[in-house]
Amino acid sequence: MKFEELNEKIKKVYGKVRTIDDFHWHISDNLIHGIHKKSGLRLEIRIAESKEAADKIAQKKEPGNLMVIVVPGKETFYVNNGAFVLALKFLRSTIQDISDHIVWAGFKVVERDGALEQEDIYEYLGGRLIEHIKSGMVNGKDYIFWQFYKCEHCGKYVDIENLVRHMKTHGEDVKEWSEEKYEVLELSFEDKKVYNKFGKEVPLEEFVEETQDFIKEVFES
Ligand SMILES: [Zn+2]
Repeated sequence: MKFEELNEKIKKVYGKVRTIDDFHWHISDNLIHGIHKKSGLRLEIRIAESKEAADKIAQKKEPGNLMVIVVPGKETFYVNNGAFVLALKFLRSTIQDISDHIVWAGFKVVERDGALEQEDIYEYLGGRLIEHIKSGMVNGKDYIFWQFYKCEHCGKYVDIENLVRHMKTHGEDVKEWSEEKYEVLELSFEDKKVYNKFGKEVPLEEFVEETQDFIKEVFES
């Protein structure tokens, strides 16, 4: 298939996302398929003639896949079964928001063909994304995501920067670990509180002391 042969609707939709280089785009006549480069997460962009048609497509969405359905009209924006149903004008910003909510959450060293390789782990914070869109919150301005490690010795969260030092106090050398899995938490500048991926507040007492200082510093800056 040649690019010139694509239908006009797909060209119009593709024209809105082609400069978002977080995704690797595959274009066909009825679907744009994006692969998030860092995480490998799959995103489908489909076009529907009406909201009703979009709702039918949304019901078929596989869990774990990302889906955006573009419908005619100017103001449509809602979520159905985790799929975004929206007007073309919201497409680009929504895809960027989706990308902002795919966050690095750790790594694992694996053996492959006799060599060692680091596999990175990413988490998609879809629940937070919907909440942020609803309340018009902007990444970097109203909130940031940060990686925290839940210490198995004291049961408290340590921020990624303080992990090495903190584990030393328990006699552990992080350098010897072949994997680390973090929990991604949200630091909200709006109310100066920390939230988990379900939107539940994580009280300051659940963090080790040095991390409490770090959080306070972030909120003061
Ligand atoms: Zn600890």
